Amino acid sequence: MAYREIRKDGDEVLRKKSRPVEVIDKKIETLLDDMADTMYKADGVGLAAPQVGILKRIVVIDIGNGLFEMINPEILEQNGEQDGIEGCLSVPGTSGEVVRPMHVKVRYTDRNGEPVILETEELFARAICHELDHLDGILYKDKAHKMFTAEEIEKMQK
Ligand SMILES: [Zn+2]
Repeated sequence: MAYREIRKDGDEVLRKKSRPVEVIDKKIETLLDDMADTMYKADGVGLAAPQVGILKRIVVIDIGNGLFEMINPEILEQNGEQDGIEGCLSVPGTSGEVVRPMHVKVRYTDRNGEPVILETEELFARAICHELDHLDGILYKDKAHKMFTAEEIEKMQK
């Protein structure tokens, strides 16, 4: 169990394209463990490897329905539209409204090397899109049509 430092907006590593994982070895398994630990400690619902400075196509997501570890994830199909508020552990203190597909079909490899195809919608679909963008150096704020400060979000929730 180990926590890794979460890279913040302005760090070049967040803007680079990640490379596919070729072999799932001990190093990758440790990275998966550390990414989950780091995400839970930071109270996040998702974390991509570049956010801990590793340019590999790996994301972890838990929107409250258990931990999903996705290696080399790829969106096969997407449709519909949803507009909602997102934040990011790498962009602290702000949130933004982003339009995402309502449904996505994603293919990835799990930690045992097994291929998985997952179809999902709403928040889970949003989280997948957000995390996969990180693998191509894209931050949600690039796509947000409206940004909010932490204070504005707090007021909206009152
Ligand atoms: Zn993020």
